[in-house]
Amino acid sequence: MKFEKINFKIEDDSDNVIKWFCKIYHKEYNSVLNELKDIKEELNLENYNNIEVYETYMKYRHTESIEINKNIKVNELNLPNGKYVILCYDENNNIHLSYLKNGLLYGNDDNSLNLKVSKVYKFNDLELYKDWFKNYSFFSDNTFVISEIDFLNKLTDILITNFEESMKYSFNDFKPLSKEELINLSQFYFDSHNIDLNINELIKNKNLILYDNVELKQDSFGMINDGNSNYIKENDKVVATMKLKNNTFDFLILVHELTHNRNQPKGKRNIVSDLLTESISYINEMIACKQMCDIEEQRKYYNILCKTIYFFAYNLRDIYKIINVYKKENDITLEAYNNCYDDSEYQKVMNSFDNYVESTRRIFKDSYYILGFVLAIYMFMEYIKDNDFFYKIEKLNDSINNLKFNDCLNIIGIKDLNDLINKFEVMAKEFKNYLFNSYSENKVKHTID
Ligand SMILES: [Zn+2]
Repeated sequence: MKFEKINFKIEDDSDNVIKWFCKIYHKEYNSVLNELKDIKEELNLENYNNIEVYETYMKYRHTESIEINKNIKVNELNLPNGKYVILCYDENNNIHLSYLKNGLLYGNDDNSLNLKVSKVYKFNDLELYKDWFKNYSFFSDNTFVISEIDFLNKLTDILITNFEESMKYSFNDFKPLSKEELINLSQFYFDSHNIDLNINELIKNKNLILYDNVELKQDSFGMINDGNSNYIKENDKVVATMKLKNNTFDFLILVHELTHNRNQPKGKRNIVSDLLTESISYINEMIACKQMCDIEEQRKYYNILCKTIYFFAYNLRDIYKIINVYKKENDITLEAYNNCYDDSEYQKVMNSFDNYVESTRRIFKDSYYILGFVLAIYMFMEYIKDNDFFYKIEKLNDSINNLKFNDCLNIIGIKDLNDLINKFEVMAKEFKNYLFNSYSENKVKHTID
């Protein structure tokens, strides 16, 4: 058995078991705490920090105790692959919790492996996943992903088929860009499209915060979170934040985030605006690059965009497969999988799904990113043919918080999601040809000479 020490932050006197439950079940601290308090009431107990309460919480998540040999130490446990919660005691009879996943023990005590085992609880992941699907918690409490799973499947297939070769591109460095140049360049972009927005004012009023020297990390999807845009309830403000890389890429991110700010209502977006805001930010980013960056920077940017889309679609494909199996068969078993796919990939696909859950990604959010990329490519090709298409993008931007989904799509010439699939099958190829004809290596060199 291998061991990895988990150090929870000890900045407060918060409950250690709750922190474990947060880690194991991917929950927020207060949501676990509130549910434990509810269970305490249900069971008529004095305190929530009680084994019976913890066991009930785990039982609700299909984690139930299994028979083990009595009086053994943690490192003497011999359990098949899977996920387990282990309850143990030290010599002073203090309770400790640890988490065992496929032979790797996570504990917060150096002595975790030598503690005496009291009880072992085994996860039934499949039952847990089915619960999440059934109550829509996996889908951020809306039905879009599960209702449109056929559409999302087709979309990822088109992206994977068309953009596989973009994986060969490396993420070359972009040209240096100072903060002052960044502000001027971005201001010029918005001014040139008669968009009423004053970046220096936004910075002064703290609606835009630019951070220098922040470490940027890639997540499990190879994405870097370099910017955000949100409505902040406490000070009733729409705020965009950005971590500067001090190169041309900052310009594209700033255009992206400020575009989000323009369609952020006070409070939460609705499901339609959630689904469409990324497309408007990406298309502005793409147009800004075409309009303001030199040809070498354009080549790098569009290739990186394709690589990002490909990677995203590739990773999501397995997740969509499981959702599809559940939707069609109302179950997630090998048999149900084989009824839908004849590729013998059940185990591989399930592993991808487990990893997806572990890395706490959100399928609804990932799906609106995919949709955003695709709509942006579609709009970009329309814009290339006729720059006046920009007015339609602006109209879309004005409409996403108050029109229905299909009415928004109609503004940019798409009837519904089926129509989008048909058009995108053509557009993806056109976009690829456009990139090849405009930015093939020789062509770029030639233009620079
Ligand atoms: Zn965005």
